[in-house]
Amino acid sequence: MTTPNERIEAARAKFGSRLAILGHHYQSDSIIRHVDVQGDSLELARKIPGLAAEHVVFCGVYFMAESAAALARPGQRIHIPHADATCPMADTAPANRLEEVLGELRDQGRLVIPLAYVNSSAEVKAICGLYGGSVCTSANARVMLEWALGQGDAVLFLPDKHLGANTANQLNIPTGERLTVSLRRGAPAVDAKKLPYARLLLWPGTCAIHHMLKKQDIEAVRRAMPGVRVVVHPECSPAVVRAADSAGSTSHIIRYCAQAPKGATIAVGTEVNLVLRLAERHKVEGKTIVPIKTMRCTNMAKTTELRLAELLDTLDDAAPLTLADDVAEHARVALTRMLDICS
Ligand code: SF4
Repeated sequence: MTTPNERIEAARAKFGSRLAILGHHYQSDSIIRHVDVQGDSLELARKIPGLAAEHVVFCGVYFMAESAAALARPGQRIHIPHADATCPMADTAPANRLEEVLGELRDQGRLVIPLAYVNSSAEVKAICGLYGGSVCTSANARVMLEWALGQGDAVLFLPDKHLGANTANQLNIPTGERLTVSLRRGAPAVDAKKLPYARLLLWPGTCAIHHMLKKQDIEAVRRAMPGVRVVVHPECSPAVVRAADSAGSTSHIIRYCAQAPKGATIAVGTEVNLVLRLAERHKVEGKTIVPIKTMRCTNMAKTTELRLAELLDTLDDAAPLTLADDVAEHARVALTRMLDICS
Protein backbone atom coordinates (compact mmCIF):
# COMPACT_ATOMS: atom_id res chain seq x y z
CA MET A 1 0.00 0.00 0.00
CA THR A 2 1.53 3.35 -1.01
CA THR A 3 1.72 6.02 1.65
CA PRO A 4 0.62 9.65 1.06
CA ASN A 5 4.30 10.62 1.14
CA GLU A 6 5.13 8.15 -1.64
CA ARG A 7 2.16 9.36 -3.71
CA ILE A 8 3.31 12.98 -3.34
CA GLU A 9 6.85 12.03 -4.36
CA ALA A 10 5.49 10.12 -7.38
CA ALA A 11 3.48 13.18 -8.45
CA ARG A 12 6.57 15.35 -8.09
CA ALA A 13 8.52 13.00 -10.35
CA LYS A 14 5.68 12.97 -12.88
CA PHE A 15 5.06 16.72 -13.05
CA GLY A 16 8.61 17.96 -12.49
CA SER A 17 8.86 21.74 -13.06
CA ARG A 18 5.18 21.87 -14.12
CA LEU A 19 4.27 21.71 -10.40
CA ALA A 20 5.03 24.11 -7.54
CA ILE A 21 3.80 23.55 -3.98
CA LEU A 22 3.53 26.59 -1.71
CA GLY A 23 2.97 26.41 2.04
CA HIS A 24 2.11 28.94 4.71
CA HIS A 25 4.20 28.94 7.90
CA TYR A 26 1.18 27.69 9.90
CA GLN A 27 1.09 24.38 8.01
CA SER A 28 2.22 21.24 9.83
CA ASP A 29 5.70 19.76 9.30
CA SER A 30 4.16 16.87 7.36
CA ILE A 31 3.13 19.43 4.69
CA ILE A 32 6.07 21.82 4.99
CA ARG A 33 8.51 19.04 4.07
CA HIS A 34 6.87 18.87 0.62
CA VAL A 35 6.76 22.57 -0.25
CA ASP A 36 8.95 24.40 -2.75
CA VAL A 37 8.26 27.77 -1.17
CA GLN A 38 7.36 28.45 2.46
CA GLY A 39 6.34 31.91 3.60
CA ASP A 40 3.79 34.30 4.99
CA SER A 41 0.92 35.69 2.94
CA LEU A 42 2.96 38.53 1.41
CA GLU A 43 6.00 36.41 0.57
CA LEU A 44 3.84 33.78 -1.11
CA ALA A 45 1.70 36.32 -2.99
CA ARG A 46 4.84 37.97 -4.39
CA LYS A 47 6.11 34.63 -5.75
CA ILE A 48 3.05 33.71 -7.82
CA PRO A 49 3.61 35.73 -11.04
CA GLY A 50 7.26 34.65 -11.22
CA LEU A 51 6.62 30.92 -10.88
CA ALA A 52 7.23 28.95 -14.07
CA ALA A 53 4.97 26.06 -12.95
CA GLU A 54 1.65 25.48 -14.67
CA HIS A 55 0.11 23.91 -11.53
CA VAL A 56 0.48 25.84 -8.26
CA VAL A 57 -0.79 23.98 -5.20
CA PHE A 58 -1.40 26.35 -2.31
CA CYS A 59 -1.26 24.74 1.15
CA GLY A 60 -2.93 27.30 3.36
CA VAL A 61 -6.44 28.67 3.69
CA TYR A 62 -8.87 29.65 0.96
CA PHE A 63 -8.27 33.41 0.83
CA MET A 64 -4.56 32.80 0.21
CA ALA A 65 -5.29 30.58 -2.78
CA GLU A 66 -7.74 33.21 -4.05
CA SER A 67 -5.01 35.87 -3.91
CA ALA A 68 -2.77 33.48 -5.82
CA ALA A 69 -5.52 33.03 -8.43
CA ALA A 70 -5.88 36.81 -8.79
CA LEU A 71 -2.14 37.22 -9.36
CA ALA A 72 -1.63 34.11 -11.52
CA ARG A 73 -0.37 34.35 -15.08
CA PRO A 74 -2.75 33.27 -17.89
CA GLY A 75 -2.65 29.47 -18.10
CA GLN A 76 -1.46 29.00 -14.52
CA ARG A 77 -3.77 26.76 -12.49
CA ILE A 78 -4.12 27.37 -8.75
CA HIS A 79 -5.25 24.49 -6.55
CA ILE A 80 -6.01 24.16 -2.84
CA PRO A 81 -5.99 20.66 -1.27
CA HIS A 82 -9.00 21.37 0.97
CA ALA A 83 -11.53 23.91 -0.31
CA ASP A 84 -13.22 24.00 3.12
CA ALA A 85 -10.06 25.37 4.74
CA THR A 86 -11.50 28.83 5.19
CA CYS A 87 -10.51 31.62 7.57
CA PRO A 88 -13.30 32.42 10.06
CA MET A 89 -11.94 35.94 10.48
CA ALA A 90 -12.18 36.56 6.71
CA ASP A 91 -15.76 35.25 6.87
CA THR A 92 -16.74 38.05 9.28
CA ALA A 93 -16.52 40.45 6.34
CA PRO A 94 -18.96 39.39 3.60
CA ALA A 95 -18.59 41.49 0.45
CA ASN A 96 -22.24 42.57 0.34
CA ARG A 97 -22.06 43.92 3.91
CA LEU A 98 -18.86 45.81 3.10
CA GLU A 99 -20.54 47.46 0.11
CA GLU A 100 -23.52 48.46 2.27
CA VAL A 101 -21.29 49.95 4.96
CA LEU A 102 -19.11 51.81 2.46
CA GLY A 103 -22.20 53.16 0.71
CA GLU A 104 -23.67 54.34 4.02
CA LEU A 105 -20.42 56.06 5.05
CA ARG A 106 -19.99 57.74 1.68
CA ASP A 107 -23.63 58.88 1.73
CA GLN A 108 -22.70 60.84 4.84
CA GLY A 109 -20.23 62.83 2.79
CA ARG A 110 -16.94 61.22 3.79
CA LEU A 111 -14.45 59.79 1.34
CA VAL A 112 -13.74 56.51 3.12
CA ILE A 113 -10.94 54.34 1.71
CA PRO A 114 -11.24 50.58 2.36
CA LEU A 115 -8.07 48.77 3.41
CA ALA A 116 -8.44 45.01 3.77
CA TYR A 117 -6.06 42.72 5.57
CA VAL A 118 -5.13 39.92 3.15
CA ASN A 119 -7.20 37.64 5.37
CA SER A 120 -10.31 38.54 3.39
CA SER A 121 -12.16 37.15 0.38
CA ALA A 122 -11.26 38.00 -3.21
CA GLU A 123 -14.62 39.81 -3.49
CA VAL A 124 -13.71 42.06 -0.56
CA LYS A 125 -10.30 42.76 -2.12
CA ALA A 126 -12.08 43.57 -5.40
CA ILE A 127 -14.27 46.15 -3.62
CA CYS A 128 -11.11 47.69 -2.14
CA GLY A 129 -9.63 47.88 -5.64
CA LEU A 130 -12.81 49.50 -7.00
CA TYR A 131 -13.10 52.07 -4.19
CA GLY A 132 -9.50 53.32 -4.47
CA GLY A 133 -8.25 51.22 -1.55
CA SER A 134 -5.88 48.33 -1.22
CA VAL A 135 -4.90 45.40 0.97
CA CYS A 136 -2.19 44.83 3.55
CA THR A 137 -0.48 42.04 5.45
CA SER A 138 0.60 42.05 9.07
CA ALA A 139 4.13 42.79 7.77
CA ASN A 140 3.19 46.01 5.96
CA ALA A 141 0.01 47.17 7.76
CA ARG A 142 1.71 50.33 9.05
CA VAL A 143 2.96 51.43 5.61
CA MET A 144 -0.38 50.63 3.98
CA LEU A 145 -2.47 52.37 6.64
CA GLU A 146 -0.32 55.51 6.30
CA TRP A 147 -0.79 55.32 2.54
CA ALA A 148 -4.57 54.83 2.81
CA LEU A 149 -4.94 57.73 5.27
CA GLY A 150 -3.46 59.96 2.57
CA GLN A 151 -6.03 58.90 -0.04
CA GLY A 152 -9.25 60.17 1.55
CA ASP A 153 -10.97 61.52 4.68
CA ALA A 154 -10.90 58.23 6.60
CA VAL A 155 -9.93 54.57 6.28
CA LEU A 156 -12.17 51.56 6.82
CA PHE A 157 -9.81 48.83 8.05
CA LEU A 158 -11.12 45.28 7.87
CA PRO A 159 -11.70 42.61 9.05
CA ASP A 160 -9.22 42.40 11.99
CA LYS A 161 -9.94 45.04 14.63
CA HIS A 162 -6.85 44.04 16.63
CA LEU A 163 -4.42 44.45 13.74
CA GLY A 164 -6.16 47.75 12.92
CA ALA A 165 -5.89 49.03 16.50
CA ASN A 166 -2.28 47.84 16.94
CA THR A 167 -1.30 49.56 13.70
CA ALA A 168 -3.17 52.73 14.72
CA ASN A 169 -1.23 52.68 18.00
CA GLN A 170 2.05 52.57 16.05
CA LEU A 171 0.89 55.62 14.08
CA ASN A 172 -0.33 57.41 17.24
CA ILE A 173 -3.85 57.82 15.91
CA PRO A 174 -5.84 59.08 18.92
CA THR A 175 -8.60 56.79 20.16
CA GLY A 176 -11.03 59.70 19.71
CA GLU A 177 -10.41 59.46 15.96
CA ARG A 178 -11.29 55.75 15.82
CA LEU A 179 -14.74 54.21 15.52
CA THR A 180 -15.83 50.58 15.49
CA VAL A 181 -18.30 49.64 12.78
CA SER A 182 -21.54 47.95 13.85
CA LEU A 183 -22.63 44.99 11.73
CA ARG A 184 -26.11 44.77 13.20
CA ARG A 185 -28.69 44.69 10.41
CA GLY A 186 -30.94 47.70 10.50
CA ALA A 187 -28.58 49.66 12.78
CA PRO A 188 -26.37 52.48 11.48
CA ALA A 189 -22.81 51.32 10.69
CA VAL A 190 -21.34 54.04 12.92
CA ASP A 191 -22.50 56.82 15.23
CA ALA A 192 -23.30 59.63 12.76
CA LYS A 193 -22.35 62.30 15.34
CA LYS A 194 -18.85 60.88 15.72
CA LEU A 195 -18.23 60.09 12.05
CA PRO A 196 -17.00 63.61 11.10
CA TYR A 197 -14.12 63.23 13.60
CA ALA A 198 -13.17 59.67 12.71
CA ARG A 199 -10.05 58.92 10.65
CA LEU A 200 -10.06 55.19 11.26
CA LEU A 201 -13.10 52.91 11.13
CA LEU A 202 -12.49 49.40 12.43
CA TRP A 203 -14.42 46.35 11.29
CA PRO A 204 -15.20 44.22 14.39
CA GLY A 205 -13.56 40.92 13.28
CA THR A 206 -10.84 39.01 15.12
CA CYS A 207 -8.82 35.84 14.65
CA ALA A 208 -10.22 33.46 17.28
CA ILE A 209 -6.82 31.76 17.51
CA HIS A 210 -4.81 34.88 18.37
CA HIS A 211 -7.68 36.38 20.36
CA MET A 212 -7.33 33.40 22.76
CA LEU A 213 -4.11 34.88 24.12
CA LYS A 214 -4.62 37.13 27.16
CA LYS A 215 -2.38 39.53 29.04
CA GLN A 216 -2.54 37.13 32.01
CA ASP A 217 -0.95 34.41 29.86
CA ILE A 218 2.05 36.64 29.28
CA GLU A 219 2.27 37.51 32.97
CA ALA A 220 2.17 33.77 33.78
CA VAL A 221 4.97 32.91 31.35
CA ARG A 222 7.12 35.73 32.74
CA ARG A 223 6.62 34.35 36.27
CA ALA A 224 7.36 30.77 35.17
CA MET A 225 10.41 31.67 33.04
CA PRO A 226 12.29 34.67 34.52
CA GLY A 227 14.22 36.55 31.82
CA VAL A 228 12.01 35.21 29.02
CA ARG A 229 11.58 37.39 25.89
CA VAL A 230 8.00 37.54 24.64
CA VAL A 231 7.09 38.05 20.99
CA VAL A 232 3.50 37.98 19.66
CA HIS A 233 1.60 38.40 16.41
CA PRO A 234 -0.35 41.69 15.95
CA GLU A 235 -3.60 39.74 15.48
CA CYS A 236 -3.44 39.54 19.31
CA SER A 237 -5.28 42.21 21.27
CA PRO A 238 -3.58 45.59 21.96
CA ALA A 239 -3.36 44.62 25.67
CA VAL A 240 -1.35 41.51 24.74
CA VAL A 241 0.85 43.45 22.31
CA ARG A 242 1.58 46.03 25.02
CA ALA A 243 2.52 43.29 27.49
CA ALA A 244 4.94 41.65 25.02
CA ASP A 245 8.55 42.69 24.31
CA SER A 246 7.95 42.68 20.58
CA ALA A 247 5.09 42.20 18.12
CA GLY A 248 5.06 41.61 14.39
CA SER A 249 4.20 39.41 11.44
CA THR A 250 5.26 35.77 11.14
CA SER A 251 8.39 36.96 9.28
CA HIS A 252 9.15 39.32 12.17
CA ILE A 253 8.71 36.48 14.70
CA ILE A 254 11.04 34.24 12.66
CA ARG A 255 13.68 37.01 12.53
CA TYR A 256 13.25 37.78 16.24
CA CYS A 257 14.01 34.16 17.17
CA ALA A 258 16.94 33.97 14.73
CA GLN A 259 18.49 37.20 16.02
CA ALA A 260 18.08 36.46 19.75
CA PRO A 261 21.41 35.66 21.42
CA LYS A 262 22.49 32.04 21.96
CA GLY A 263 20.93 30.58 25.08
CA ALA A 264 17.92 32.95 24.99
CA THR A 265 14.50 31.82 26.15
CA ILE A 266 11.66 33.08 23.96
CA ALA A 267 7.91 32.65 24.45
CA VAL A 268 5.95 33.10 21.23
CA GLY A 269 2.29 34.00 20.81
CA THR A 270 1.17 32.69 17.43
CA GLU A 271 0.06 29.48 15.70
CA VAL A 272 1.74 26.54 17.36
CA ASN A 273 3.07 24.80 14.22
CA LEU A 274 5.35 27.76 13.53
CA VAL A 275 6.46 28.00 17.17
CA LEU A 276 7.39 24.30 17.38
CA ARG A 277 9.31 24.52 14.10
CA LEU A 278 11.27 27.51 15.40
CA ALA A 279 11.98 25.63 18.64
CA GLU A 280 13.43 22.72 16.67
CA ARG A 281 15.44 24.98 14.33
CA HIS A 282 17.13 26.96 17.10
CA LYS A 283 17.67 24.36 19.79
CA VAL A 284 21.20 23.68 18.47
CA GLU A 285 22.03 27.28 19.45
CA GLY A 286 20.88 26.55 22.98
CA LYS A 287 17.73 28.68 22.52
CA THR A 288 14.56 27.62 24.29
CA ILE A 289 11.48 28.60 22.27
CA VAL A 290 8.04 27.80 23.66
CA PRO A 291 4.44 28.63 22.75
CA ILE A 292 2.82 30.93 25.32
CA LYS A 293 -0.32 28.88 24.76
CA THR A 294 -1.10 26.04 22.36
CA MET A 295 -2.94 28.00 19.67
CA ARG A 296 -3.80 25.78 16.69
CA CYS A 297 -5.69 26.93 13.60
CA THR A 298 -8.05 24.07 12.79
CA ASN A 299 -8.58 25.42 9.29
CA MET A 300 -4.88 25.43 8.47
CA ALA A 301 -4.81 21.85 9.84
CA LYS A 302 -7.39 20.71 7.29
CA THR A 303 -4.57 20.38 4.73
CA THR A 304 -3.13 16.97 5.51
CA GLU A 305 -0.61 14.85 3.65
CA LEU A 306 -3.45 12.56 2.56
CA ARG A 307 -5.43 15.52 1.14
CA LEU A 308 -2.36 16.75 -0.71
CA ALA A 309 -1.70 13.26 -2.11
CA GLU A 310 -5.34 12.93 -3.24
CA LEU A 311 -5.16 16.24 -5.09
CA LEU A 312 -1.83 15.41 -6.74
CA ASP A 313 -3.08 11.93 -7.82
CA THR A 314 -5.64 13.61 -10.10
CA LEU A 315 -4.03 17.00 -10.68
CA ASP A 316 -4.40 17.04 -14.48
CA ASP A 317 -8.17 16.63 -14.13
CA ALA A 318 -8.65 18.68 -10.95
CA ALA A 319 -10.74 21.84 -11.34
CA PRO A 320 -8.52 24.83 -10.45
CA LEU A 321 -9.72 27.63 -8.20
CA THR A 322 -11.22 30.29 -10.44
CA LEU A 323 -12.49 33.79 -9.81
CA ALA A 324 -15.10 35.71 -11.80
CA ASP A 325 -13.26 37.94 -14.30
CA ASP A 326 -14.35 41.22 -12.69
CA VAL A 327 -13.48 39.97 -9.18
CA ALA A 328 -10.04 38.82 -10.37
CA GLU A 329 -9.43 42.12 -12.18
CA HIS A 330 -10.32 44.41 -9.26
CA ALA A 331 -8.72 42.18 -6.61
CA ARG A 332 -5.54 42.26 -8.71
CA VAL A 333 -5.71 46.08 -8.72
CA ALA A 334 -5.86 46.10 -4.89
CA LEU A 335 -3.08 43.51 -4.50
CA THR A 336 -0.84 45.12 -7.09
CA ARG A 337 -1.22 48.50 -5.38
CA MET A 338 0.09 46.93 -2.16
CA LEU A 339 2.94 45.15 -3.93
CA ASP A 340 3.95 48.38 -5.72
CA ILE A 341 3.76 50.50 -2.56
CA CYS A 342 5.79 47.94 -0.60
CA SER A 343 8.30 47.03 -3.33
S1 SF4 B 1 -4.82 31.65 12.26
FE1 SF4 B 1 -6.62 33.00 12.41
S2 SF4 B 1 -6.39 34.47 10.76
FE2 SF4 B 1 -4.99 32.75 10.31
S3 SF4 B 1 -6.23 31.41 9.00
FE3 SF4 B 1 -6.50 30.67 11.12
S4 SF4 B 1 -8.37 31.75 11.80
FE4 SF4 B 1 -7.67 32.82 9.96
